[in-house]
Amino acid sequence: MKHVPISFEFFPPNTPVGSDKLKTVVQDLSVVKPEFFSVTYGAGGATRDKTLATVKDIAALGHEAAPHLSCVGSTAEGISEILDTYRAQGIKRLVALRGDLPSGTAVAGEFRFASDLIEFIRKTQGNDWFIEVAAYPEYHPQQRYARKDLEHFAAKVKAGANSAITQFFFNPDAYFHFVDEVRALGVDVPIVPGIMPIHNYAKIAQFAARDGIEIPRWVALKMEGYLDDAASIRAFGIDVVARLCERLITGGAPGIHFYTLNQSPLSLEVCKRLSLT
Ligand code: FAD
Repeated sequence: MKHVPISFEFFPPNTPVGSDKLKTVVQDLSVVKPEFFSVTYGAGGATRDKTLATVKDIAALGHEAAPHLSCVGSTAEGISEILDTYRAQGIKRLVALRGDLPSGTAVAGEFRFASDLIEFIRKTQGNDWFIEVAAYPEYHPQQRYARKDLEHFAAKVKAGANSAITQFFFNPDAYFHFVDEVRALGVDVPIVPGIMPIHNYAKIAQFAARDGIEIPRWVALKMEGYLDDAASIRAFGIDVVARLCERLITGGAPGIHFYTLNQSPLSLEVCKRLSLT
């Protein structure tokens, strides 16, 4: 299998024990020589300090860390402060997002969409940052019209994004179609598939239903049929995800970004199957 760049995503742990465990996970995953590890950010700044602490831990282990930064509910001053803090840590890559505020929260703030955040970063900080953005091969769940979503994505890239990471998906045709569609709109940045190893099928089915992501019927029925047979769920999940990655890489995907949920074994097993370790 052709070698492709790999990246891994974490969420910031809530406890010191979780932070220590994550350092081990980073070391385990480093056998793949990842390009970077990204760390999510709670919209509205909920995980601001924890995201920063996790980014520092990753950098201290000698790896590139890319904090996510969502802008909804934020002020320009607050965003500038966060960027300054990261800059002081030598961080150069960001995943720039709009984010979602918890329902019931008042949506004040100076940024409406991720494109506003990217424009702001480019205007105030020039080309200092390598900016990743989110892409949705099965379209963003709040957007009724596929065409509009593609146009908004293209506008976001035009505002200054360098690369994109997709929402997770299980249907490779959705990814290839999305890439074709946005290329036709003039988007030429890499679009890296975001891949979710199947840690807990019930939870992933729940996320998928919430975010409008198709789980193929043959996968869903087989998974549901395993009931509590954890070994079969694990083996079949690895098989499905490894074959998906194989098709994506063979079809030209420029890399793979794993949603690790802060665990290494499944992502590593998939990388092994792809001969990427
Ligand atoms: P945008 O690109 O701004 O799009 C949001 C919606 O607005 C879309 O429906 C789009 O079509 C529409 N839109 C865009 N521009 C316009 C316009 N000019 N006019 C009208 N409509 C417009 N969430 C977090 O809270 N923290 C994270 O760390 C995080 N990490 C993520 C990482 C990845 C790789 C992905 C795929 C998602 C992540 N998310 C995260 C979830 C993300 O914040 C949500 O999906 C959010 O709803 C959209 O964010 P966005 O940056 O894609 O928004």
